[in-house]
Amino acid sequence: MSDLAGKTALVTGGTGGIGNAICTRLSAAGCNVITTYRNREKAEQWQRDHAEAGRDFSIIDCDVGDYAACQSMAEKILADHPRVDILVNNAGLTRDKVFLKMTPGMWSDVISADLDSLFNVTHQFVPGMVESGFGRIINISSINGQKGMFGQTNYAAAKAGMHGFTMSLAQETARKGITVNTISPGYIATEMVMAVPEEIREKIIAQIPVQRLGNPSEIAAAVAFLCSDDAAFITGANLPVNGGQFMG
Ligand code: NDP
Repeated sequence: MSDLAGKTALVTGGTGGIGNAICTRLSAAGCNVITTYRNREKAEQWQRDHAEAGRDFSIIDCDVGDYAACQSMAEKILADHPRVDILVNNAGLTRDKVFLKMTPGMWSDVISADLDSLFNVTHQFVPGMVESGFGRIINISSINGQKGMFGQTNYAAAKAGMHGFTMSLAQETARKGITVNTISPGYIATEMVMAVPEEIREKIIAQIPVQRLGNPSEIAAAVAFLCSDDAAFITGANLPVNGGQFMG
């Protein structure tokens, strides 16, 4: 039996390309999976599709950039589950623009969804993890938080900030059986990346040593490993899953 069997996992943004693969993988390992959404119609369709495939996912409305919404989301989850054992902070968005044309709204939308969300969501569930003596927190950052990217001062700042959060919380919780790690994906074949014109996509792929985009399932596999008992000695790490595109 998998060491994740029966564990409760909350994956934010599970209806997106990478989140969907993470939910599917953790469910296959025996976790009870819950995800947050903002777009109800999309989330309900996603839930029905998984139900048809025999996967029973819970969905809960929450803007992860809003602390009060996260408090209320956590109250609802903890009314049905004793605690959340695994938290994957995956929800995120981009609002790209060169710095001189970036508006305060573009800056704050990204900082709120990609960085404030770590505090807002994680703050709700660490007490339960401390009490049970077990927890796995995985923050989905980006290669662009490691190397920067033209047009992404907001996103790169938020994604780099995530790992500072990871390292600090890892130190605070290590003695409590909780590990906190970052995964920094490179270019992954999600709808967003596949919508990039083929010519530009080919140029991106040419810069990746393994000469292809990553699969969402490859991020999900890294998440499942970091959740496992075998990864209990790994905390405060930033795991790049990028086909060799950036070696820090
Ligand atoms: P998608 O756009 O496919 O999915 C993003 C998910 O996040 C959606 O489910 C969306 O929900 C949710 N979300 C966004 N903002 C909020 C918010 N404020 N509150 C709650 N939910 C929110 O993205 P990907 O699957 O491609 O990306 C997942 C993560 O991986 C992101 O953090 C991204 O930055 C990171 N990443 C992705 C890469 C890639 O190549 N795709 C590369 C490197 C990192 P809804 O639709 O309901 O709004």
